[in-house]
Amino acid sequence: MDWRCSESESMEKKKEEPLKTLQMKMNAMIVFIFTLLFLSTPSSSSSVQSDPQTVCIIGSGIGGSSVAHFLRQYSDQSPPPIGLIRIFERRGRVGGRMATISLAGDTFEAGASILHPKNYHAVNFVKFLNLTVKQDDEDDSSSFGIWDGHKFVFKTLDSNSKFPFFQKIASLLNSFRMFFRYGFSLFKMSNFVESAVDKFLNYYKSCESRPVFESVDEMLKWAGLYNLTTRTLQEELVDVRLSPLLIQELVTVITRINYGQSVSISGFAGAVSLAGSGGGLWAVEGGNWQMAAGLINTSDVELHLNEEIASISYLGDYYELNSTNGNSYTCDITVVATPLDEINIRFTPAFLIPNRQLQHTHATFVRGFLNPAYFDLHSASAIPELVGTVENSDIPFTSISVLKQHSKNDMSYKIFSRETVADALLNRIFSVRTATIRINWGAYPHYKAPERFAPFILDGRHLYYVNSFENAASTMETSAVAAENVARLILSRSSSQVKSSSSNLKSSSPDAHDLYSDL
Ligand SMILES: Cc1cc2nc3c(=O)[nH]c(=O)nc-3n(C[C@H](O)[C@H](O)[C@H](O)COP(=O)(O)OP(=O)(O)OC[C@H]3O[C@@H](n4cnc5c(N)ncnc54)[C@H](O)[C@@H]3O)c2cc1C
Repeated sequence: MDWRCSESESMEKKKEEPLKTLQMKMNAMIVFIFTLLFLSTPSSSSSVQSDPQTVCIIGSGIGGSSVAHFLRQYSDQSPPPIGLIRIFERRGRVGGRMATISLAGDTFEAGASILHPKNYHAVNFVKFLNLTVKQDDEDDSSSFGIWDGHKFVFKTLDSNSKFPFFQKIASLLNSFRMFFRYGFSLFKMSNFVESAVDKFLNYYKSCESRPVFESVDEMLKWAGLYNLTTRTLQEELVDVRLSPLLIQELVTVITRINYGQSVSISGFAGAVSLAGSGGGLWAVEGGNWQMAAGLINTSDVELHLNEEIASISYLGDYYELNSTNGNSYTCDITVVATPLDEINIRFTPAFLIPNRQLQHTHATFVRGFLNPAYFDLHSASAIPELVGTVENSDIPFTSISVLKQHSKNDMSYKIFSRETVADALLNRIFSVRTATIRINWGAYPHYKAPERFAPFILDGRHLYYVNSFENAASTMETSAVAAENVARLILSRSSSQVKSSSSNLKSSSPDAHDLYSDL
């Protein structure tokens, strides 16, 4: 193995003790001397020399683009172990579930919208690609309410004031209100989330201290996260003595907003979901899809847009990929970077993976004005800017949030629901509606503890699956973390393989905007 994890190293360096650094230097020296001796043996060079491998990646979301990025980052030796990297994308744009919509002239995130401050791969991508971060500064000033289908069981104060002082006072009062309703359980919830986040940080350790994982189970066990996938969030929170009221209200609201599901999701998916409701959240100015576009542009990738892969066949010592357009591609290594649950790729030979269903989230974007009568209120100003909901099958949506206030009676909203929201219902919820856009997302797995995971290596050869990790949790960052491990796995397993396929690298670096358009 001659590749290195340079990116993670730089993050880890700050923490290393001098003794450890010295030890590492000595190790590096030994490796260097060993390499020199090895290379100076006359017969050795020809036997280890292998032609660069062609890697085909299906999917241009954050998972597929991160695999390409890390393959290039970690294989800077000469000759490079990886030659041509092709990415196939069935749509005419990159980014997958990172996508924007244009509603009456304004652009909003339609899918993955927020990132956690400790999503370090995303933080690094943004720095590396020179993208601009947009802080989610709404947490203090925007109002929030929990709707039970009849009334708001909890509401925060709205600080419409432009003055930071009054905003702070409102925020303080809201904290008191929260504490009054949920008590010390709030701290227990925060400890539960922090503990899971701390364990997740293990995935950013340097490569010297972090193994390459062949299975998701192994990867989760190593970080101490596996047990959280074997029990439901509810079971985990009852164990740490959270009050039933907090679980039934605030926690449920958050899992419904982030995963469209109840507290019966796994403890780990639940912890990730709760972490996504904390402070310091951020997004990429102009759209998160730019991370995928940037990583593709900077990774010497041959991108095939509007090219849907219909079949993947192993033909002795290579894979043949066939597209619905009738094109055929030869690949040494194939990476599936999309959930396999709702797509129709034919694999030869076939393999079995655990059955999984996707949770569908219907995102409905409306320009208009909410109808206070729907919420049994007299004034629209009494409706919170974020309406969350408890589990009640009579409530036809999971959340409604204000995306932008254009004027006093003219707003842009996002509604999440498990079913499509019909026009008749929208006409009851809104008193004014001037534009509507609906998207039905096959959004994330329908979580069910104990989770079972498909392998990272689907056929025991060189067919890899990034999205097997999605059964643990589905976020942009978890996709990047899984992709980084898959890139390391590819490099560690392919170094001994001697393959044909001369590199015909096309360095295509179009402007990121050439790769993307709104949904
Ligand atoms: C409504 C919604 C809200 C979300 N909110 C957040 C959030 O706030 N924060 C967060 O971190 N995450 C969020 N997520 C989850 C996040 O979007 C995903 O976990 C992440 O983007 C998955 O990336 P991926 O690259 O693994 O898969 P995808 O983004 O799904 O990419 C897969 C790509 O493969 C392509 N493809 C599929 N089949 C083929 C084929 N046969 N041939 C060629 N191409 C193919 C698809 O078109 C797609 O572009 C949200 C998701 C949804 C739907």
